[in-house]
Amino acid sequence: MRRVLLLAATTGYQTRAFGDAAARLGVELVFATDRCDVLDDPWRDAAIPIRFHDEDASVESILAFASRQALDGVVAVGDRPTVIASRVCEALGLPWHPPEGAAAARNKQLTRRAFQLAGLPTPAFAEGVLSEDPWPLAKRVGYPAVLKPLSLSGSRGVIRVNDSGELETAIQRLRAILASPDVQRERNDAHERVLLERFVPGREFALEGLMNAGVLDVLAIFDKPDPLDGPFFEETIYLTPTSAGEATECAIGAAIAKAATALGLVHGPIHAECRVGDDGVFVLEVAARPIGGLCARALRFVPRPGTERTDRSEPTLSLEELLLRHALGEPSTAFRREDVASGVMMIPIPRRGVFRGVSGLEGAREVPGIDDIRITAKPDQLLVPLPEGASYLGFIFARGSDAMEVNGALRQAHATLAFSVLPEVRVLPSTHG
Ligand code: ADP
Repeated sequence: MRRVLLLAATTGYQTRAFGDAAARLGVELVFATDRCDVLDDPWRDAAIPIRFHDEDASVESILAFASRQALDGVVAVGDRPTVIASRVCEALGLPWHPPEGAAAARNKQLTRRAFQLAGLPTPAFAEGVLSEDPWPLAKRVGYPAVLKPLSLSGSRGVIRVNDSGELETAIQRLRAILASPDVQRERNDAHERVLLERFVPGREFALEGLMNAGVLDVLAIFDKPDPLDGPFFEETIYLTPTSAGEATECAIGAAIAKAATALGLVHGPIHAECRVGDDGVFVLEVAARPIGGLCARALRFVPRPGTERTDRSEPTLSLEELLLRHALGEPSTAFRREDVASGVMMIPIPRRGVFRGVSGLEGAREVPGIDDIRITAKPDQLLVPLPEGASYLGFIFARGSDAMEVNGALRQAHATLAFSVLPEVRVLPSTHG
């Protein structure tokens, strides 16, 4: 039986989806994570415990495992395990992104430098020390600008600033975010630095792709129909196919292929964001991983004409199955995204507070085109919006004959939902002995 290592920062939907895909393919999945509170993963007895912040020891543990039970492929989900995955693949001679590429993709400053060096359109940028005054950076970059941490994800800590007053407020917020316990636990030196870059106007798109030996296979280009002009950059709706038009789609694919190559990403999944305006395609980032968690459910694949299915019982393939097949050496080009339009809404957090629940779910599920709604926030969970927070209330999925219809269904379903978020009660220490 072929064996694939799955490196993941969290458990939940995506690890279960990989489990299902592995079962269909007759592949054994070995799980490696640094979560010790994993209760719901079916592989916990066999899971390899690692520490994401200790790459050397993590790689060593995985290689020790691989010397006893051979690994035929590696899949990494989430930003944090990508470098460990690439080092393991390099050591085992498995094709994947090289460690330098995975490391550059995880660091926004290395990314900017690589793009600039490759001659890709790049906004003016300047990197500085978090604890120092940001004014010299602003002098080099100008306004409007975007202040960001080097190595967080999901737009956490990313703040648009239009003048020096806003920069002052933003740097204080970013310092607080980078000092928070969950960020400090990562023990990442990159969190001591910041990047300021010129704001790039334009429409934003995301691209999901798989690199096959240096060649990009575009799996999907997503429109982000809601304007992302700041001050914070909360993702909401992703729609595919894109309405960009053929010429822009080609330009996006070409720019992201160049950007991936500039970073040194050659084999494996990529998820990229770009902005398209009057000055062309600006690639914001290329991550060496697939689209995150539940959003992957918006993508389903079918065999390309002329290729044989091995399993005829399933009408479509999940992204997880495609990734497993790719990790085992199958080229992704044997498959393409299905014909229907598809979309996902990452349900935004309306305000900071304690989540009590949601009503209107039944009505929302009945909106034509709605595939599924998953509320991922837990009752009594403190909801923290961007730029400090890093999560969504849940996800709405829709499918239809065209993307505009899907867009309408997502918005209608969202409007049907009512979220109860209570003000946070801060408990003050008693002044009485
Ligand atoms: P993350 O990796 O946390 O998602 P990004 O650098 O991709 O961080 O930024 C998150 C979002 O912020 C982007 O998707 C985009 O909407 C916005 N953004 C980031 N940099 C710029 C920029 N230079 N100009 C305009 N918008 C930007």
